[in-house]
Amino acid sequence: MNSIRCVICDGDEWDRIGAVHAGETRREGTSLQRVEQEFALGACRNCGHVRTIEQYDAAVFSRLYAQESQQPVSWGDLKGADALQPYAEMVELAGGAALKSSAGLIIDVGCGNGPLLVTLAERFDIALPRLLGIDFNRMLPDRFAFRQADLNTTDLMALVEAGTPVDAVMSSHVIEHVLDPRRFLRQLKKLVQHCGGVIYIETPDFSAVDVGRPDVCNLIHPQHINYFTADSLAKLMASVGLLVEHVDTQVTGGIPRLRMRARAASADEPAARLRASLQAGVETRAQIARSLMCAGPVLLWGAGGDLWRMLEEHPQTGALLESGRVRIVDRALAGATIHGQQILSSSDIRNQEGPVILMPAYSGTRRSMINFARSEEFDARLVDLYAQ
Ligand SMILES: [Zn+2]
Repeated sequence: MNSIRCVICDGDEWDRIGAVHAGETRREGTSLQRVEQEFALGACRNCGHVRTIEQYDAAVFSRLYAQESQQPVSWGDLKGADALQPYAEMVELAGGAALKSSAGLIIDVGCGNGPLLVTLAERFDIALPRLLGIDFNRMLPDRFAFRQADLNTTDLMALVEAGTPVDAVMSSHVIEHVLDPRRFLRQLKKLVQHCGGVIYIETPDFSAVDVGRPDVCNLIHPQHINYFTADSLAKLMASVGLLVEHVDTQVTGGIPRLRMRARAASADEPAARLRASLQAGVETRAQIARSLMCAGPVLLWGAGGDLWRMLEEHPQTGALLESGRVRIVDRALAGATIHGQQILSSSDIRNQEGPVILMPAYSGTRRSMINFARSEEFDARLVDLYAQ
């Protein structure tokens, strides 16, 4: 039990809250034998997330899916005869009429026998070449394109031609069935990330299950591995870099349908800033290296990491040290040898000629150097290229 990790918080301690069972009844003559497997449900002690705290292997999956292979969602006591209405609502949330005016693929991951794709084709007039169903078994009408996949292992990107624009990836009542919902969301994200498409996810909302009606819709079922709420699914989405744009819960035929639309979040903000900051350091070291080329004596103050970076990035500066025209100054390392010259102490600066270039990038270090220069009255000779 300990090896099962919470997909929301990575916790590994569970309180058993009950169990569900799957099995079959065998009949021989008049005698019946019931063969059952128990699936315990656990609540994460850390965050409260509920999942089946059993290991699912191939044998368990084949038993669980043998009899009723990936039935479409039963909407329970759906009023009226319009079985496609819930799917039409999904399409509306995923973009509705706007999807028609676009040209990218719309992929149904875990398409079953295709009610969502039928809805897209028949009610939203989406051309068939734009529709693709993905599932373990083909139950989809022949007119739709289909790719076989094990949603626990298949790389979905390999199922579509590289660079194909994808307007929407939709997955209804599937994420609760997969072994690793985080991997599953990452897979969906990869499908839309390059083109700004939307992800539509629907799963039962277990913060809204009608506890007075355990009969309704078979929601607590061994095929369901994770039991999400709006809150836990939003956390999971955020953890893979998805930005949730819409979330609501709508009850249809007794099933509380948690409906979420998300897009790949722009990860540019921190990356772009950090890249620019690192680049600024590179450029300043290049500027320092150039400023050493001037004629006459120069003092380079600070023999820490930034000096070593500069010597590596601009190997020609090593020769300047060897020539003795550029002298290195460092209070702590005074007396040591670098590129054949002895490092001077900062108290020697007053007795040396030439501009004094500050080497450390860290502003706190430069501040204390500037204070020292003021106290020794050579601050007018300082060159701080980081501050320019
Ligand atoms: Zn947890």
